[in-house]
Amino acid sequence: MEATANHTQIVTGWAGKDSSGKVTPHVFKRRENGPDDVTIKVLFCGMCHTDLHYLKNDWGITMYPVVPGHEITGLVTKVGLNVTNFKVGDRVGVGCIYASCLNCEFCEASEENYCDQVQFTYNGIFWDGSITYGGYSEMLVANNRYVVRIPDNLPLDVAAPLLCAGITVYSPMKHHNMFQAGKKLGVVGLGGLGHIAVKFGKAFGLHVTVISTSPNKEKEAKDRLNADGFIVSTDLKQMQAASRSLDYIIDTVSAKHSLGPILELLKVNGKMVLVGAPDKPVDLPSFPLIFGKRTVSGSMTGGIKETQEMLDVCAKHNIKSDIEIVTPDYINDALARLARNDVRYRFVIDIASKSKL
Ligand code: NAP
Ligand code: ZN
Repeated sequence: MEATANHTQIVTGWAGKDSSGKVTPHVFKRRENGPDDVTIKVLFCGMCHTDLHYLKNDWGITMYPVVPGHEITGLVTKVGLNVTNFKVGDRVGVGCIYASCLNCEFCEASEENYCDQVQFTYNGIFWDGSITYGGYSEMLVANNRYVVRIPDNLPLDVAAPLLCAGITVYSPMKHHNMFQAGKKLGVVGLGGLGHIAVKFGKAFGLHVTVISTSPNKEKEAKDRLNADGFIVSTDLKQMQAASRSLDYIIDTVSAKHSLGPILELLKVNGKMVLVGAPDKPVDLPSFPLIFGKRTVSGSMTGGIKETQEMLDVCAKHNIKSDIEIVTPDYINDALARLARNDVRYRFVIDIASKSKL
């Protein structure tokens, strides 16, 4: 039997078909709802910078047509026979992870994100051999293991970006024990990921400094996000004045840059986590590492259990993404604005809106 013989459900979505960085309407097929699956009516989908990387084939791995979107929230419309943890009508989310091997030490520990067979919600290969298509679409079928529950007090639109941007900063912050009141955190790049890192930092009582290339974000960062400090990274004087002042840094920058000047901001023994994924290698000079006994590490999204935990933490601390809601006919404008750093701080597509492309 052909791998996709049971892909009989017709879905409308929006796909990139070449590296222009634009999407067009796209009708495609999804599998029938299997015994372990839930079917989700997609209501909102955040627009992560990763979507843009894939649309433009920045990383050279895009399989066109690509239906982006891994910050998905919506309502369950169908559950399979074996599904006991979700029912029709539940408010749910799907993030970056769509499948994994289920047997390795990482899957067993619900660190599916580090399974060496992990498959993503789009541009991945599902267990049945089919290519995965993401949340820029009206409906999704997902194995219940990779579905999370959206807490009641988090509206589905502002919760959507938490499914990628939220968990991607929460996971390394937790892993490196950053949630300690009074410690000093630097967040490099005030975009989708960065603004949520600021919110986690403030919620846990840290002193948070934004390190940005955009002086025009300072007022908002301080007034709206309650950042304690703001450094313009191109201003040498400001950078020097903050030398050796931070315990931790989260770097969310989407483009190639040098880590050297940023590392100098860390105290001796300070830690930097790189979550931004530029298409070209970042510059990592050895002197700032050696002279400050500093550590640089990376982190990729988070496991499903931790994603649920993160959502519950957001519900408790009232952490929501700052969003600009867009209709599907605005996706290409939003992508263009995302590319030129003109978003505060996440576009979220209102998928059910009547304004179609
Ligand atoms: P975003 O909203 O576009 O934010 C990125 C920020 O980086 C911008 O707001 C800007 O902040 C800064 N920036 C942009 N171009 C820059 C340049 N040339 N030099 C210095 N700074 C620059 O993007 P995002 O959605 O937060 O994603 C950020 C990166 O994380 C992307 O590469 C994405 O693929 C990656 N990502 C990784 C994971 C993971 O699992 N590790 C998960 C999701 C996303 P300022 O204006 O403040 O300078
Ligand atoms: Zn993402």
